[in-house]
Amino acid sequence: MANYFKFKIQQKLPRSLARAGIISTPNGDIETPAFIIGGTKATVKGLTNDQIKASLAQAILVNTYHLMLQPGVEVLVKSEGINNFMGWDKPTFSDSGGFQVFSLGMAFKKGLDLTSSSIKGDPKHARHTKSQLAQINDDGATFRSHLDGTQYYITPEISMQLQHKIGANIHMAFDELTSPLASNEYIKTAMDRTHQWAKRSLNEHKKLNLNNTKKQALFGVVQGARIEQYRKESAQFLNSLDFDGFGIGGIFEPQEIMQVLEWTNNILDPNRPRHLLGMGSGPIDLFLGVEMGIDTFDCVAPTRQARNGALYTYEGRINIKNSRFKDDFGPIDPDCSCDCCLNYTKAYLNHLFHAHEMLGPILGSIHNEYFVISTVDKIRQSILDGTFYKYKKDFILRYYQQEIDQF
Ligand SMILES: [Zn+2]
Repeated sequence: MANYFKFKIQQKLPRSLARAGIISTPNGDIETPAFIIGGTKATVKGLTNDQIKASLAQAILVNTYHLMLQPGVEVLVKSEGINNFMGWDKPTFSDSGGFQVFSLGMAFKKGLDLTSSSIKGDPKHARHTKSQLAQINDDGATFRSHLDGTQYYITPEISMQLQHKIGANIHMAFDELTSPLASNEYIKTAMDRTHQWAKRSLNEHKKLNLNNTKKQALFGVVQGARIEQYRKESAQFLNSLDFDGFGIGGIFEPQEIMQVLEWTNNILDPNRPRHLLGMGSGPIDLFLGVEMGIDTFDCVAPTRQARNGALYTYEGRINIKNSRFKDDFGPIDPDCSCDCCLNYTKAYLNHLFHAHEMLGPILGSIHNEYFVISTVDKIRQSILDGTFYKYKKDFILRYYQQEIDQF
């Protein structure tokens, strides 16, 4: 494997696909399994880099679609990459932009629609409609910015060029994600297209890496939705190419995680790391993903939920705005060691949220990120010391039993 990227397995967990390891990048190591914090627009919403590091984050994932629209990748080139731009000196990931082209365009059919006179830099004719924003063919995808309606065209080659300009340590091949409602026939078409795009992404990436002093690693993305045959076919195809690692995309339902990852990860080369793209609903996904061979996760839910007052505790999720916390002077969770739990009370956070003070979402985000990252760190430790199954059982019993009472 290349000298700018290494993955070393330290310990495998018997009777499962789980492993603890270390991913090495030019910006440092990531001890896995690891939760990669979502930094979509080159910011983890509301948090400074010191606060992000205090939340135990080892790496950040930024989003190509959002950065190409704003501030534009040329700004990132001038600042010599995303790490310099953000002032973040630890490892970085970027996604390909495929998910946003899909989610802000085709699948959910919402966003901006423009008259033909308003293309490129003239958003005043923009109007919100439910019409389609993106069109995909075998060469690439045409879509309009959700910000100002400007039309863009993205291909696997362009995605690689953009991601090399962004300059994250690990980036993703351009893929087509299908809607959860897509027909089997369309899933097959999109998967075949994703495979062709994977080859084109890899070729372009290799060319760009030759001339790039800051070399990057590339992960191929497995698709195939909920269908066993397609997932296995996709894993076999991606595995035959010399990607540095793999992303696994397109899992929408929590109950699909175990099955899809079992189909996929029994085929993928175990010596290359696997990233679950945009995991879903709650802490149980972390345990199931790790057990099925996932090394890194990303998700924006911890900060998004925190901004709404939904905070994680070991006894389940709470809504801090609830009136029962108005005079509760204990921490969010007495077993959490984050800055929020060590220094502030539930009553204070309840007040901040009701007064719409910005410190409320900031403290909530610090807590939720710390909670999720430290949970994954404990999962890693439990693999190393052989206590994974006990830790999983105890955690889930405590978290979900209580959650049923609260909601
Ligand atoms: Zn906390």
